[in-house]
Amino acid sequence: MDTVSGTAPRPAARVRGMATSIFTEMTELARATGAVNLGQGVPELASPPALLRDVADAVLAGHNQYPPAVGLPALREAVAAHQRRLYGLAYDPAAEVLVTTGATEALAAALLALCDPGDEVVAFDPCYDAYAADARLAGATLVGVPLVPDGDGFALDADALRAAVTPRTRVLLLNTPHNPTGKVFTRAELAAVAEVSAEHGLTVVTDEVYEHLVYADEPHLPIAALPGMRQRTLVVSSAGKTFNTTGWKVGWVCGPAPLVTAVNAAKQFLTYASGTPYQAALARALDGVEQWAAGLRAELRANRDVLTEGLRAAGLRPFRADAGYFVQADVRPAGYHDGTAFCRDLPGRVGVVAIPTAAFRTAQGPDWLVRFSFCKRPEALADAVERLARLAG
Ligand SMILES: *Cc1c(COP(=O)(O)O)cnc(C)c1O
Repeated sequence: MDTVSGTAPRPAARVRGMATSIFTEMTELARATGAVNLGQGVPELASPPALLRDVADAVLAGHNQYPPAVGLPALREAVAAHQRRLYGLAYDPAAEVLVTTGATEALAAALLALCDPGDEVVAFDPCYDAYAADARLAGATLVGVPLVPDGDGFALDADALRAAVTPRTRVLLLNTPHNPTGKVFTRAELAAVAEVSAEHGLTVVTDEVYEHLVYADEPHLPIAALPGMRQRTLVVSSAGKTFNTTGWKVGWVCGPAPLVTAVNAAKQFLTYASGTPYQAALARALDGVEQWAAGLRAELRANRDVLTEGLRAAGLRPFRADAGYFVQADVRPAGYHDGTAFCRDLPGRVGVVAIPTAAFRTAQGPDWLVRFSFCKRPEALADAVERLARLAG
């Protein structure tokens, strides 16, 4: 109780219950127990040296004031060239590309720009934890459509997607490659999503921050490249996961001018703009991203294999991770039915921290999945795998 005014500060309903998360609890546990933290997806791998030098040069050269709200022209041009080169998607850098403070701001601004109170946003469950929060900040509700465990992967249930769409649905929020499952949506699944969105006049917001981290044979395919989809899709991506620079918070959104203009209307009053020296340097790095990303993928693919094998050796049942930073594991073979209980015990039992997949769920789904991240230094990962082996022990 606030003794001066007699009233405790009372957070607004839109943020109530958001203050603490399982991530805070597990990071604390990692610190308290000295456990290896495979909970958070903070990359420990290197960034391109030329990119780091370019940022330092840009700072020293005095590029330290506000960039244009929509982003530096050089970066908008590099993003447009990237979309054209890799995916055959043409965007006008002057009107159809917007630089944001990470993908995080792009997603928040997109939902603020597209949703009225009472509207619904459909997303695939489990999903990145910001989605439900962003929908709520916009006064909307996130409706989760479960991805279904299918063999060693996860599949889209197109009937469940259809059933989730109501007259209040405004946005279909798609994340491929997907966090936390490591799933890459197939062309057929994307076609099903495209069909539903066209049928119901939905805007598709697609989170593609792991676009360069696909370990399967087929490269990343943006849904905007499917027939008729460019006009109704906002493509969100970011430099953080591609260059191991998550602290820089430089992201972008591409789409038809009216949609991008609406996103910028919200974005300009969130951060206005940020990261001038980072934007300048990233414009150059994006031009050569293919070569850089090939090396990064090789490192992460090797890490994925080490972790997957380690989880199997520990007696768990790992799923196939075709992309991204994470492997899902079924913890029932270790005698647990609840991933949260497993994660609370794991630091004490063997000295490893992971995150229960239930933390990424908004609808019904399996409680027995746990997410382990492999975007770590190989030594840290080897240490974690050695510790995990004691579970079987
Ligand atoms: C890391 C991550 C983000 C956040 O991207 P930033 O550019 O750091 O804001 C968004 N979506 C997914 C799925 C992520 O894993």
